[in-house]
Amino acid sequence: MEKSLIILKPDAVQRGLIGPILTRLEARGLKFIGIKLSQISGDLAHKHYGVHEGKPFFAGLVSYITSGPVLIVAVEGKDVIEIVRSTVGATNPVKAAPGTIRGDFGVNIGRNLIHASDSPENGENEVALFFNSEELIRSERSVDQWITE
Ligand code: GDP
Ligand code: MG
Repeated sequence: MEKSLIILKPDAVQRGLIGPILTRLEARGLKFIGIKLSQISGDLAHKHYGVHEGKPFFAGLVSYITSGPVLIVAVEGKDVIEIVRSTVGATNPVKAAPGTIRGDFGVNIGRNLIHASDSPENGENEVALFFNSEELIRSERSVDQWITE
């Protein structure tokens, strides 16, 4: 079982795209185990994006992700890292395939709407960074047998 941390970034929230984006993730069959509206602090943004510190876009990235409310979502399941990344599309919306979230809703790399964990290890760590264990809900869905063999 993998976990993926998904963030609907401030542009997605401001543009009223929470519903359309969650609809796609939910319709794919992903299981949500945590969802909350939040505003990311500078400290948390530095922790979450620490790997990009020193890059030319880092200051802009921190100011973007902390600029307004975000929707933080945790999903769990087999292969969710790859499933979510492929649903989200390429980092640069200019290159993202039509049919992906970034390819359908975005035009600019600095406003690319959504974050998704890029490895099982980062998924575990990022979910733990944004959610307390009490905020994560695990329950069986009767539909699971129709989604996964
Ligand atoms: P992701 O995993 O697809 O989100 O991409 P990365 O981990 O490489 O980068 C993290 C985030 O930094 C991206 O989602 C963008 O918001 C931002 N970013 C990455 N590269 C650039 C860039 O060249 N310019 C700008 N303005 N932002 C960037
Ligand atoms: Mg990344």
